Amino acid sequence: MEETQKILSRLPKVDLFLSRPSVSTLAETYSAGLAKEAVQSVLAEVRQAILAGTRADIPTDGELEKMVSEYLKERETFHLRRLINATGTVLHTNLGRSILSKAVSRHVAAVATSYSNLEYDLEAGGRGSRYSHLTRMLCRLTGAEDVLVVNNNAAAVMLVLNTLVPGKEVVISRGELVEIGGFFRIPQVIEHSGGIIREVGTTNKTHLADYKSAVTENTGALMKVHTSNYHIIGFTQSVGTDELAALAHAEGLPLINDLGSGLLIDMTRFGLPYEPTVKEALQNGCDIVTFSGDKLLGGPQAGIIVGKKEYIQAMKKNQLLRALRVDKMVIAALEATFRSYLDEEWAVREVPVLQMLALTKEDCYRKCEQFIAALEEERLPVTAEIVEVTDMVGGGSYPEYTMPSYAVALTVNGVAAAEIERRLRLMEIPVIARVQHDKVCFAVRTIQENEGLIICRNLERICADLA
Ligand SMILES: *Cc1c(COP(=O)(O)O)cnc(C)c1O
Repeated sequence: MEETQKILSRLPKVDLFLSRPSVSTLAETYSAGLAKEAVQSVLAEVRQAILAGTRADIPTDGELEKMVSEYLKERETFHLRRLINATGTVLHTNLGRSILSKAVSRHVAAVATSYSNLEYDLEAGGRGSRYSHLTRMLCRLTGAEDVLVVNNNAAAVMLVLNTLVPGKEVVISRGELVEIGGFFRIPQVIEHSGGIIREVGTTNKTHLADYKSAVTENTGALMKVHTSNYHIIGFTQSVGTDELAALAHAEGLPLINDLGSGLLIDMTRFGLPYEPTVKEALQNGCDIVTFSGDKLLGGPQAGIIVGKKEYIQAMKKNQLLRALRVDKMVIAALEATFRSYLDEEWAVREVPVLQMLALTKEDCYRKCEQFIAALEEERLPVTAEIVEVTDMVGGGSYPEYTMPSYAVALTVNGVAAAEIERRLRLMEIPVIARVQHDKVCFAVRTIQENEGLIICRNLERICADLA
């Protein structure tokens, strides 16, 4: 015991330690308050360790300074921060799904750092609605009568059902009772919103007659859900929205269509399989269409509801809307994103998600060559080659479709690829890469402009640490 006390008495005093030149420089960088907190925490930690017997002696002054500096650095870095996606999956849900263009983020920053007309009608000089800002543009892009935007597509589906079918039956095909991920399951969402599920057909086949015979005076709506994240092949049949719409309208019911990704332009131009656009879904007679803001649309997280005015007006009066409402930054990002879509060619040039999908195999090869040239310029002790890979769309979109592409496969002499991959993940600007055949693979499709240089710098640091 006495021995322990003797060791502890050698711990420096907080104020004395703070007055050291190297520590007071830290105070200049991180503020005096934070530096003091860091010194106190580090000294307390050492004291605890000595009392607990997990530490035999006090650290050297140099070690203590390093601990304080690391404590401050850790507090300084943001927990949620940018990283480099070298996986080749364009809509990587774990990595934030879609990314915004610089132009869009500039508009968001302008709206966020100033007052705005979020709920102010500039012409009337009085109260306005936050839901008015996107109406004209989205009606033009989709042909809808009215629009509404909420927190995400799950919220959109919830609000639609809660408004249109409380206590009523929602007729839906057994082949469309999907789980989207993150435990978002269509059957549960229908139940939570107060609707009653009326399943029809079978997993692989549903006919129009199945829907028809399920309609009673207790039916509130017919619903179609885009099976975006899986595919049934073989002996299958589903009913098109045009036929379903005709049935719904003959019965005086709305047809709700959860499209998932919600395309504004035809994706077959990128070689992707055909999927109906939002406009086509409405033209086919869907009364309400819902889709995500941050899937193939390439905007911020949001749920977009478009369709018949009478239904959307009812949703605007639903109390639930208040709990699902979007922030001004989201509205700003959506408006700026939609603006690119007024001209399809513009959209392909300006929306990052579309830019990445538009890259051909040859484009990716050229990006690989540039990346390797940058590596060579840095004279890093690595070996790099170009390999064929398949990139994914991701975000639960086009599950069975892969994009033929190229990646840079890299080895660092004598070091396991998994170790390099791990170190890349732990950098200040982390790089998320895959390991294939004991090589670190950088899929260039999702690496943004100037990020190649950051990867080089990170590799340089890692090589120096390992040397
Ligand atoms: C992705 C998806 C959702 C959920 O959308 P979020 O914006 O992630 O809430 C709902 N329905 C379908 C069909 C989807 O593909």
